[in-house]
Amino acid sequence: MKKQGLSGIITRTDSHWIIVCDFDGTISCADVTDTLMEKLGHPDWQLLEKRWINAEIGSRECLSGQISLLDASRQQIDACLDQIKIDPEFCRFARWAKAEAIPLYVVSDGLDYAIERILRNNNIAGLPVIANHLEQVSDRGWRISFPHFSPDCQYASGTCKCRVAKMLNYDEFIAIGDGRSDFCVASIADHVLAKKSLLTHCQKAGIPHTPFNSFREAQACLERLVAKESRLIPSQEIS
Ligand SMILES: [Mg+2]
Ligand SMILES: [Zn+2]
Repeated sequence: MKKQGLSGIITRTDSHWIIVCDFDGTISCADVTDTLMEKLGHPDWQLLEKRWINAEIGSRECLSGQISLLDASRQQIDACLDQIKIDPEFCRFARWAKAEAIPLYVVSDGLDYAIERILRNNNIAGLPVIANHLEQVSDRGWRISFPHFSPDCQYASGTCKCRVAKMLNYDEFIAIGDGRSDFCVASIADHVLAKKSLLTHCQKAGIPHTPFNSFREAQACLERLVAKESRLIPSQEIS
């Protein structure tokens, strides 16, 4: 694994990148869990949200509590998910990554069931989704579990994205995200595409990154990197 970053010196003659992409607020416009809780949860969900925002608890504890406050049938959950919009450029971006043979993983500290449904709604099929597991436990009751939790995660996330990234087979990887769930993975990525609080975090922590607002911009940035790499000029600085 090369630790130099794409902003450093490229000496490889082959490309073995992967993309690790966040979902909530990055692919989707709204945060899925917040949307579900606002419409279908007991109002106490906001107390947990405040504790998470103040970094008193990690997202794992926050999500466990919030999902237990959901009071909704599957039909209601589905109807709510079907209202959630995604970045309209994401579909084109996913097709581009496939055409370039760059594996694209959706790695999220959100809900697997929701992500899979929303991607399907937008005719995006076949993307691996690695996220927390949502299951129905009674007519109106739901539970979340954390198959990708790491006890060592300094952010106490439900899905530790750096643990996931380390398990994926790659030489170099690009992380795309927008928030706190991306902080741990950003520190080990070769390059980060960042917006919102992840952008501020990368700036403060000196993590190599490119700001972006839409997947049109994300694709343009990665196309430049791929084009530069394919020229195979050793010791060429990429800026
Ligand atoms: Mg996010
Ligand atoms: Zn982590």
